[in-house]
This record gives sequence, structure tokens and C-alpha cells, in this order.
Amino acid sequence: MKAVTYHGIGDFRVTEHPKPELVGRGDALVRITLGAICGSDLHIYHGHTPIDEGALIGHEMVGVVEEIGPEVRDVKRGDRVVAPFFTACGGCYQCLRGWYSQCEERAVFGHGAFFGGLGGAQAEYCVVPRADLNLAHIPDGVDDEQAIFVGDVLTTGYFAAERGQIRPGDTVAVIGAGPVGLMAVMCANLYGPARVFAVDMVDSRLELAGELGAHPLDARLINSVSEIQSHTGGCGADVALECVGQISAIETAINCVRGGGTVSSVGVPSAINGDFPYFDAWNRDLTFRAGWTNVHPYMRPLLDLIAAGRLRPERVISHRMRLDEASAAYRMFDQREATKIVLRP
Ligand SMILES: [Zn+2]
Ligand SMILES: [Zn+2]
Repeated sequence: MKAVTYHGIGDFRVTEHPKPELVGRGDALVRITLGAICGSDLHIYHGHTPIDEGALIGHEMVGVVEEIGPEVRDVKRGDRVVAPFFTACGGCYQCLRGWYSQCEERAVFGHGAFFGGLGGAQAEYCVVPRADLNLAHIPDGVDDEQAIFVGDVLTTGYFAAERGQIRPGDTVAVIGAGPVGLMAVMCANLYGPARVFAVDMVDSRLELAGELGAHPLDARLINSVSEIQSHTGGCGADVALECVGQISAIETAINCVRGGGTVSSVGVPSAINGDFPYFDAWNRDLTFRAGWTNVHPYMRPLLDLIAAGRLRPERVISHRMRLDEASAAYRMFDQREATKIVLRP
């Protein structure tokens, strides 16, 4: 089979591999019908993630189940499925409390041996361990280009919004309008805010944020903190959803909320070396939440929201390419010439 593999910093190639085989009795083999490139793949691309040469890349996938192990019950051959970007065991202390993202045996697709040695999603096939737990059925009426977002990006945006505890009438500031930020805009709107601001520096993203119902703020041209304050009696947003992961974005998020406000951060941290403003957080009664999303419990409700037409995550897809074109796709994505690229094997 063909798969995107890591060969060094800035060097991802499509190479030939043996078709993967089931290992555990609960595994399923998925024939991938759509994969996607994610911002966190760029962390690997730039050498910020510990990874071995030849590791398979990609953690966002939908596909059709081709084979199942003898202990798989709910998932059947021929089922259309979407996988979360990481797998959990289902039986450890954290899993039993519903915190699959904190599972002791958590492993991430497409991240090499250091993250559990799973296969990659930018490939023709992938083995999914404990398929009954780690795959969700795609309902009729939801297509691949919608369902793929439930495995990571949409769920991350939803996790940000939910943990922001947005109330009807609130002012929300979304910091970063990349794919996750755009999902956060859509999900924030499920909670009935009076207005949602989206802060970014890329024209195409700001434009899309506007189409999705946000007030776009171009951080190259205006001071977003004072702009948000000017719409909120000088006080600031009730909730900020931070979807970048850089210290400057986290600072913007903290600075743009009012006293008593909430910052919910989901951006994957890159080169974070600033000091957390403990005094400011205490003095201003801030609530700060951060984390990578606990995907599993959200997949079903988000698929239902898509099926009902209340979420349209596919709006962020800017490029549809073939798996063979992955090297070029990564160059484009890295240059910010694409908002979201999906790859068809
Ligand atoms: Zn991702
Ligand atoms: Zn577990």
C-alpha cells in the first residue's frame, strides 16, 4: 500500500509498504477512503515531534472496515467508520472515568514509535486497535468530507467551546482562525453567544470566519484586545477560545477576556517558554482550561449535529488532492496557501 512517511525535517514522501495486518483480537483493518493534513502534522514536518525515520504520518481518517478480529462485536465488515486521532484502552482508571485522552495506553496515529507505533491515516490502509471503542459509525447522510472532522479538528473546536462554558448572550473571542479556530467559531455558536470575534492574520481564514458568522479581526491591522473591549463596555470578552498554541496567542486570549472571564485553550503548544501569569489570573478571577480533546465521547453527538445540518465542518476544506500528491500538499499547507487539505488514496 501507499503511505506518507517521514524521512527528515521537511521531507515527507509517499512510499510503498506491505498492507498492514491485524495484531490484536479486537483490531479492525480500515481501507481509508479519505485522509487529511492537520496543523499538528506540521509539528512533525518541522522536527518539533520526536519521530523515527520511516514512520507513517496522518491521524485524520475515514474509511470502510475490511477485516475484523475475532473479538470485534459492534464493527462489521463493510461499515463506514471514522477514527479518533488517538486510541484508548477502555479499561484503565482514566478510561473508566470517560477521560480517554488521558488513557494510560493512549497512542496516536501517524506519530511513530514514541506515540505508540500506530499506523498512519495518510495511507491506503490502517489497523485500528480495539475497534469497538476506537471507531465510530458514520450515519447515513453524512459524507466522508464531513465525518473526517469528527476524529480531531471539529471535536477539538467543540472541546474548546464546551470548556469555555459559553452562555447565551456572551461575547466570545476565538484566537486563531485556522481549521480548529473555524470549528470553534461554529461550535461557539451552538451555545447562543451574542457575538463571536475571530482573530487571525490570514485573509482567507478571516473571510471564512466571517462567512461562518464571526466578526473577523485582522491582527495585522488592529489591536484585537482593544477592539473587543470597545464592544464590551471596555471590559473584554466573557470567553476566549485559544486555537493556536503560541505564547502570543495565549497572551492575547488572557488579555482579551474581562475580569471573571474564561480562557479555554486547545492550540498545540509550540515553543512555549513564557511564564504563566499567575498573579493576573488570580487578580482578575480568571478561569483557565487547557487540553487536547477527549475525542471519543464527542464523536456520536457531533456526527448527529452534522447529520441534522447544524454543523458544516466541510466548509473549511480548501483543497482536495490525491494521496500521491502529499509532498506538494505539505509544501502548500506549510506556506499557508491552503486552509485544509484532504487526501484521497
Ligand atoms: Zn489533527
Ligand atoms: Zn485506558
